[in-house]
Amino acid sequence: MGKLASEEFHVGLFGNNDKRRLVKRCKAKSRRTGERCKAPATRSKAVCRFHGGCSTGPRTDEGRARSAAAKTVHGTETRAIRAARKAFTKRLAALVELGRLCGAFPPKPSSRRKA
Ligand SMILES: [Zn+2]
Repeated sequence: MGKLASEEFHVGLFGNNDKRRLVKRCKAKSRRTGERCKAPATRSKAVCRFHGGCSTGPRTDEGRARSAAAKTVHGTETRAIRAARKAFTKRLAALVELGRLCGAFPPKPSSRRKA
């Protein structure tokens, strides 16, 4: 494997030394030894077939929902909560702007930096 750029990250497969194709090595870490797997990774993936390289992830809507529910850690920060906060902030900014127009608030400072 003379001309391999990085043997740590690539392994030559298929054919003799001249016609070998470079493929990535699996980046999964072994729970048992703590070392990297280093098996050839599945095409266009970063891990080998034993470490999820053949996995397509959830395909159906039901499966996606189940996966999202399983991966929800605490639920204090969700898309719905972020959207609600964003809407509230937008309304608040509009109210502040209205207050400025009425003269209830001081005018917006032109710039933070002062020459
Ligand atoms: Zn692996």
